[in-house]
Amino acid sequence: MYRAKQDGGNTLRFFAPEMQAHTRRSLELASGLKHATAHGELFLVFQPQCALDSGALTGAEALLRWRHPQWGLVSPAEFIPIAEQSGTIVAIDLWVLEHAALQLRAWDAQGLPELVVAVNVSAAQFGRPQFVEEVLATLQRVGVAPQRIEMELTEAVALKQPEQAEITIRKLHAAGFRVALDDFGTGYSSMSYLKRYAIDKLKIDQSFVRDLAEQGSDQAIVTAIIRMAQSLGLRTIAEGVETAEQAQLLQAYGCDEMQGYWYSRPLEPQAFAAFAQRHRSSLALSQ
Ligand code: C2E
Ligand code: MG
Ligand code: MG
Ligand code: MG
Repeated sequence: MYRAKQDGGNTLRFFAPEMQAHTRRSLELASGLKHATAHGELFLVFQPQCALDSGALTGAEALLRWRHPQWGLVSPAEFIPIAEQSGTIVAIDLWVLEHAALQLRAWDAQGLPELVVAVNVSAAQFGRPQFVEEVLATLQRVGVAPQRIEMELTEAVALKQPEQAEITIRKLHAAGFRVALDDFGTGYSSMSYLKRYAIDKLKIDQSFVRDLAEQGSDQAIVTAIIRMAQSLGLRTIAEGVETAEQAQLLQAYGCDEMQGYWYSRPLEPQAFAAFAQRHRSSLALSQ
């Protein structure tokens, strides 16, 4: 039980030590995030994505990592919500886009096949009136075409202000970006938006993939998503694929691509380059 006591002025003191520690950590993370980009504490890892039929490398998702001077490696699952609350997410998302683009240029210079990199877009970033202009200016500065970037939006982001979102997605699309709906199936998406939005791809959430081999209900959901996507002309990618059995089922269901530990964990840029060189030609799924 937590007991709070009013302490003279307006300070609340919590007696549960674990809560105190938790609060202290959150506060330190929130203030640390303001300087994380300037202090060089953020870096990107890249998780390969592949075609389920050929096993060929098709692209990568850029995932953010934070090495905190005291706390060590902090998970984005913990610091992204804090960045969203404190507003630092807008600067962070732009940093991610810029560094993903810089990485693309570096890989191009190393002679890697031309890849598309997916970046995650937060609600705060997506909702800004100057969002599309800002990302275009960033890419122009770096010298990377929008065709090389896929914007990952969650259903919550896309549906917060549906009319505005429809316009923004259309603008992104017209500028040449690809647009994917992330964590698909976990939000409250209205099917009618799928038709209206200029979306290219659905990312089937890993919660449906995890027990795919055992759960008939997950099989039903996944096949329904794939069938619906096909009839709407959208591509599908499954997230969190960890076993050959899951990959084989997904392939049988007609899913286009996959991403997950079974193909590869997220990799630092050099390791990704080596991986991409090894997978230049197709890789049989049985390998
Ligand atoms: P997400 O966009 O759905 O990313 C997929 C997450 O699943 C990543 O976690 C990835 O490492 C993890 N994953 C990939 N394959 C497997 C697998 O086979 N099994 C399991 N169990 N997990 C797998 P990560 O990197 O910890 O990121 C968590 C979330 O944080 C992301 O979910 C995304 O919502 C957010 N995030 C990460 N980077 C950024 C960023 O640059 N900007 C924003 N706004 N959000 C980000
Ligand atoms: Mg994502
Ligand atoms: Mg996802
Ligand atoms: Mg997810």
